[in-house]
Amino acid sequence: QSVITTPKIPGRVRVAVRLRPRNTEELVADSDFADCVELQSELKRLKLRKNNWDSDTYEFDEVLTEFASQKRVYEVVAKPVVESVLEGYNGTIMAYGQTGTGKTFTLGRLGEEDTAARGIMVRSMEDILSDISPENDSISVSYLQLYMETIQDLLVPGNDNIAIVEDPKTGIDQRSFVDLLRLGEAHRFAANTKLNTESSRSHAILMVHVRRSVKPRHEREASISSLDNGTSSPLVKSLRPPLVRKSKLVVVDLAGSERIDKSGSEGHTLEEAKSINLSLSALGKCINALAENSPHVPFRDSKLTRLLRDSFGGTARTSLVITIGPSPRHRGETASTIMFGQRAM
Ligand code: ADP
Ligand code: MG
Repeated sequence: QSVITTPKIPGRVRVAVRLRPRNTEELVADSDFADCVELQSELKRLKLRKNNWDSDTYEFDEVLTEFASQKRVYEVVAKPVVESVLEGYNGTIMAYGQTGTGKTFTLGRLGEEDTAARGIMVRSMEDILSDISPENDSISVSYLQLYMETIQDLLVPGNDNIAIVEDPKTGIDQRSFVDLLRLGEAHRFAANTKLNTESSRSHAILMVHVRRSVKPRHEREASISSLDNGTSSPLVKSLRPPLVRKSKLVVVDLAGSERIDKSGSEGHTLEEAKSINLSLSALGKCINALAENSPHVPFRDSKLTRLLRDSFGGTARTSLVITIGPSPRHRGETASTIMFGQRAM
């Protein structure tokens, strides 16, 4: 089987910012205070308040207000990446932000009772399934957690090599995919209970591997010319090995970006804090290198970036959604999330 190499497309990271609405507590306790940000979605601008009179303005590729639907978020953040994965390119979709700002809401909601609530993972699979042909193509899924530089398989706990789950007879359908996600979440919860940590301290990584068979170009041309002279021979076709085009979609629900108290007073160990800081800052450095078109992207600096290496930069398409909350209390964390997104552009 030959593998087609796909032509280069620019590797710039597209960055969207999404604001979640105030929660009940913020509505009550901070009712006297204005939100720390103001969004102008048509202008694709965000204003971060400095004080009552002054604010800084930032531009993003997309600005999603608290009224943006899950469908709209999917369309602007994920759909272009999913489409290029179906065309044979690798792609990555990542959510970065402080814990509680909506990363999992954006990526991981299953929306079983309310289909409008479905997040990016479920919607991506739906688009992939509707495009591939069950006879010629196949998809498989891996789901893992990265905690303190250790990979844990969320589909087959205790597995040393990451399982790639596929059902050769029936393939993966939408229902079995949602079941896999639910299973992964349950294993994640169990693993984190055992380790006595929260899931916000680890990265959750979903990989969807797509294999499509494609006709070689000369064969396509041959079948076109055969329309004219009728010389097409079925024998020629059978002598050629089928071409398989492989690509993958990686969806990453990153660990919370908040600065972690290194004293351990909130139950975090120094090692945990260091590890999260290491992987997120390594990710930031790789994204910055890509944004600057630098020839050296420091993928080797962390396990997270090593895992993302082939679905990031080069021919791959990458989309980052940074999630923020409106509360003036978290202005500092919100500002640092905004800066992470700005540096990626
Ligand atoms: P994170 O994964 O970043 O820690 P979550 O996705 O768990 O954050 O969201 C925290 C809380 O805020 C959840 O209760 C979630 O339902 C709510 N939430 C997040 N984003 C939104 C949104 N856009 N609209 C409504 N509620 C949201
Ligand atoms: Mg979460």
